Amino acid sequence: MPEKIHNWINGNQHITENIEFIEKYNPSDGNVIFEFVNSNSSILDLAINSAKSSFDCWSKINPVNRGKLLDKFVSIIFANKHFLSSIISLETGKSLKNAELEVDACISLGNFYSSEGMRLYANSLTSGIDGKTSFTTRCPIGIAALIVPANTPLANIVWKLFPALICGNTVIIKSSEDAPKLAYEIARLSKESNIPDGVINVLHGKGIEIGQKLIENPLIPLISFTGSTQVGKNIAEIAGRRLARVSLELGGKNPIIICSDADFENALKWTLLSAFSNAGQRCAASSRILIEEGIYNKFIKELIVRTLSLKIGINNEDDLGPVINLKQQESILNNISKCINDGGVLLCGGDKPKLKTNGFYINPTLIELHNNNFDLLKNEIFGPVATIQKVKDIKEALSITNDSEYGLTSAIHTSNIDKAIWFAQNARTGIVNVNIGTYGSEPHMPFGGFSNSGNGTREPGVEAINFYSELKNISILVRETNI
Ligand code: NAD
Repeated sequence: MPEKIHNWINGNQHITENIEFIEKYNPSDGNVIFEFVNSNSSILDLAINSAKSSFDCWSKINPVNRGKLLDKFVSIIFANKHFLSSIISLETGKSLKNAELEVDACISLGNFYSSEGMRLYANSLTSGIDGKTSFTTRCPIGIAALIVPANTPLANIVWKLFPALICGNTVIIKSSEDAPKLAYEIARLSKESNIPDGVINVLHGKGIEIGQKLIENPLIPLISFTGSTQVGKNIAEIAGRRLARVSLELGGKNPIIICSDADFENALKWTLLSAFSNAGQRCAASSRILIEEGIYNKFIKELIVRTLSLKIGINNEDDLGPVINLKQQESILNNISKCINDGGVLLCGGDKPKLKTNGFYINPTLIELHNNNFDLLKNEIFGPVATIQKVKDIKEALSITNDSEYGLTSAIHTSNIDKAIWFAQNARTGIVNVNIGTYGSEPHMPFGGFSNSGNGTREPGVEAINFYSELKNISILVRETNI
């Protein structure tokens, strides 16, 4: 029997009888590995009560001491690195090596935010009134609903969880249907750190059901969502009606531009990594490759050779694993077929690899396009698929970059500093990288996008603190008569 994954409410496993369980499949072989609770409204009420009752206690612990508790939590994550990595690897089909890198990144982020407890700065202000001293402070807000996808399951959770906690909020994590166990285990481990019961709760279930109920609930003033633009728009609409504060980290259609004067080897390395690492399941994946005509033939010839030599599988020496579930695999293959029918030229991939497993694999795919009208240029695929377009020069590359509903990340490869800076100044993306890949982010750097890639908030960095705290302006007038 597959292991049953329960919710985590008020510092304990919450075992529910007579409830539907949903199957979670192993992406690398298609077998059922877990069954998780499909939470209903009464369970949601329990989670809200738990987060609400613990808010008073947690928000009154001063930020420096909250930082100490978070620091302890991070040390427990460190001690459980192998355990957590193996769950990430099992649930997502990424290699253990890559899963360990994700836990390392989580630890660095935790180190950053736990010390933010000592730096929960606001401003001291000048006043036009003589004798008035004025300053701002940061206040906790309340319950934060954290809704996450599974592509980098630990990173997605802790980018929200750590800043929410350091600011004094309590949380309900709505786990991804594709990574329920990791969310559960993170909450369970937090108990060992003496973070009070009820501060961290985890609910499993379908986004369209329990996720939707969560965002509609008037007791939740904060909603932090990472996921598709379509769901993000729905959340903004519903939360907007009740003026809940919303952070949206959404999709991307990220271009990587290869100029004729690029360092050839370096550009190839980053193009491959940006397009295909994590099987292309990154909001920042380079799904559009734009190559200047002067280097076009040489670059795509070598890019195809290197793409064909990528190793597929879940071992540490492999380059990419499966996509997360059968539905995604089918949707990606359908999108590829449609693009080919519309006139796209398949350069490599486009099908499932011949492996002795029923895992959800797709061969890394390159498709050459001769105009800008393809759906594949507009819609995020979230798989190992990249389109290739020839551009006359960097001006055409910029125009294609900015002709997108998305604006998350972009990268340019050139040895010309003027071209690099000109592109960086004019690209309408939240991240612009020069001579590296399309990716964020270090713990202290803000990640997020223009246009339909988000709603203007950023995480992580100190910028996330602005989302999870409310500013209060306090002013005091000195009464000279008292002196
Ligand atoms: P998704 O939008 O389908 O689901 C994300 C989460 O939202 C899941 O937990 C799901 O259960 C929940 N959800 C679904 N419908 C809901 C609803 N109506 N109300 C409330 N919650 C709901 O996304 P996905 O397919 O799981 O993940 C892939 C997407 O995530 C891609 O678009 C990718 O670009 C995006 N992403 C963005 C970032 C970023 O930082 N910008 C990072 C990672 C992934």
